[in-house]
Amino acid sequence: MKTDFDALVIGAGFAGLYMLHRLRQLGFSARVLEAGGGIGGTWYWNRYPGARCDIESLEYSYQFSPELQQEWRWTERFATQSEILRYIEHVADRFDLRRDIQLDTRVTAARFDDRSGTWEVESERGTVTARFVIMATGCLSSTNVPRFPGLDSFAGGTYHTGRWPHEGVDFTGRRVAVIGTGSSAIQSIPLIAAQAAHLTVFQRTPAYSIPAHNGPIDPEFLREVKGDYAGFRTRNAALPFGANFPLNETLVSQATPEEREREYESRWQRGGLGFITAFGDLLLDRDANATAADFVRRKIREIVKDPAVAERLSPKQILGCKRLCVDSGYYATFNRPNVTLVDVSETPIEAITPRGVRVAGVVHEVDAIVFATGYDAMTGALAAIDLRGRGGRSLREKWAAGPRTYLGVGTAGFPNLFIITGPGSPSVLSNMVPAVEQHANWIGDCLAWLRAKGLDRIEATTAAEDAWVDHVNEVASLTLYPSCNSWYLGANVPGKPRVFMPYLGFPVYVMKCDEVAANGYEGFETTANGWAGRAPRRR
Ligand code: NAP
Repeated sequence: MKTDFDALVIGAGFAGLYMLHRLRQLGFSARVLEAGGGIGGTWYWNRYPGARCDIESLEYSYQFSPELQQEWRWTERFATQSEILRYIEHVADRFDLRRDIQLDTRVTAARFDDRSGTWEVESERGTVTARFVIMATGCLSSTNVPRFPGLDSFAGGTYHTGRWPHEGVDFTGRRVAVIGTGSSAIQSIPLIAAQAAHLTVFQRTPAYSIPAHNGPIDPEFLREVKGDYAGFRTRNAALPFGANFPLNETLVSQATPEEREREYESRWQRGGLGFITAFGDLLLDRDANATAADFVRRKIREIVKDPAVAERLSPKQILGCKRLCVDSGYYATFNRPNVTLVDVSETPIEAITPRGVRVAGVVHEVDAIVFATGYDAMTGALAAIDLRGRGGRSLREKWAAGPRTYLGVGTAGFPNLFIITGPGSPSVLSNMVPAVEQHANWIGDCLAWLRAKGLDRIEATTAAEDAWVDHVNEVASLTLYPSCNSWYLGANVPGKPRVFMPYLGFPVYVMKCDEVAANGYEGFETTANGWAGRAPRRR
C-alpha cells in the first residue's frame, strides 16, 4: 500500500530533527509532527529562570556535521536554554529541516494496520500514513503535577518549570512557592529568590548538588577540542556515561583519607556531574558512596549559615542514586533573609488553598506557585499517545507493569515502530545528544538495510525483548541505583510501576547495537509486504 511518507517522526527536539536529516540523507520521505508551536523539544518548553544544560556545551551538541561543530560558537561552559534553542534553530535552518516539520500537531493515536503493514497516525489535524513511525518524544517531556487537593482553588498564578510561559514571569514583589528540589528547582531557586519578595521552598527529598563554576569556555580547552573534535567525541563515547566525566578507576578503599579528600575537592572545584566518577565504586558500594556523600554534606554545612537549615538541606540517600544536580549558588540562597525552607518529608503537602500551600495545618501564604515537580519520565510521552500495534494491541496495556523493549529502540508486537532513547537504552544515563544521534543513525541504517534486502517489516521478538529486559535489570541490580525513590524507577509518579528504566553503560550498549546490526538485526523478525523494491528516493 502506498503511504503518505516512508517515515513519520513524532517530536522535533534534538532527536526528531536529526532523525529527519538522516532519513533525508538516506533518500526516505519523512515528516516530523510536533505538538509545540516551535522546534526544540525540552529547550522549547523549559524556559524557567536559570534553565541551562548541565552537560558542557562542547559535548551537548550534534557531531554529525564536522562543519557545524567547527562553526558554532558556544559562549559559556554550560549553555543557557536560550542559547541551546538558538543552536537548534540554526541547525534547522542550516540543514533546511523546517519544510518537513509540522508544528502545533499533537499526535493522539497511532495504529498499525496488519494487512498493509503500515501505520496510521492521528493528530488534531487529521490522519497521516507511513511505513515506519519513529518516536522522538523525549524522556522528560510529560510533566508531572501532583494532584494536590484544592489545586484549582489557588487564587494566584501556577507554573510548571517544563511549561514555562514564553513571555517569562515577573516575580518582583510577589511571594512565591517552589515545590520540589530537583535539577529544575535547583537552577531556578537562586534567580527566583533574587527577584521575589519572599520564596518558600517545599522540599520532600534534599538533593546533592555540585557547583557548576560556569563561565566563558576556557579558550585553550576550546582550541584543543576544535583541533581534534572527532577525537574528543570518540574519547567521551568510551566513558561510562558517554560524557567527558574523567573516570578514576581507583576504588575508595584503595585511597587514603587524604587522597579521597583531594580527589573530591578537585572534582568539586572543577564543577559539574564529573563528581560521580571521582572513584570507580561510588555507584557500586555503599561505604564508598558514603565518603562522597559526607564530603558534600560538609560543603553544605560550610555554605549554609543556619545549622538547622543546613541539616534539612543535607541528603541522606545514596549520592547519585537520584540524578546529581549542578547549581550556581543554590545552597547559599538559603542564607538570604527572604527564603524559607519547609520540610515536607514527614508531613506532606496536605492541600493547595486559595491563599497558599498547607502543610501540617499551616497555610504558607503565597501569590504564585512554581511546580518543579518533574516528569512522568521515559514512558509518559509514549503512554500519552494511544499506540496500537499488531492485532490492535495497546502499548499502554503492554507496559502496564513497566516498559518492555529490545535495546530501548523496539518493542515486540509493534512492527515498524522505533523509539529514540526509549526505556532500556542508556538515554538519561548518558549525554543525550550523542545518544540520540547513535539511535537515529542505527534506525536509519536499519531502514536502509531493510530496503536493500527488499524487506518492509521489522519487529523485535519477544524472546529478544525478554532477554534484554532481564539484562537491563541485572545490570541495574549490581549498582546502588535501585536503592532510592528516583524517577529512573518511576517512583516519583504515584501508581507507576517500580522498574529501573535506563540501561547503564553507553559504550557497551553501542557495541551491542552494532553487533545486532552486523548480525542482520538479530533479535528482530523481518518480512516483506510489498513496499519493497521501490527505487530509493534521493534528494
Ligand atoms: P525531578 O528531579 O523529578 O524533581 C522533582 C522534585 O519535585 C523532587 O524534589 C521531588 O521530590 C519533588 N516532588 C514531586 N512530587 C512531590 C510532591 N507530591 N510533594 C513534594 N515534592 C514533590 O524533576 P526536575 O527537577 O524537573 O528534573 C528532572 C530531570 O530533568 C533531571 O533529573 C535531569 O535529568 C533533567 N534536567 C536537567 C537539567 C539540566 O541539564 N540542567 C535541568 C533540569 C532538569 P522527591 O525527590 O521526593 O520525589
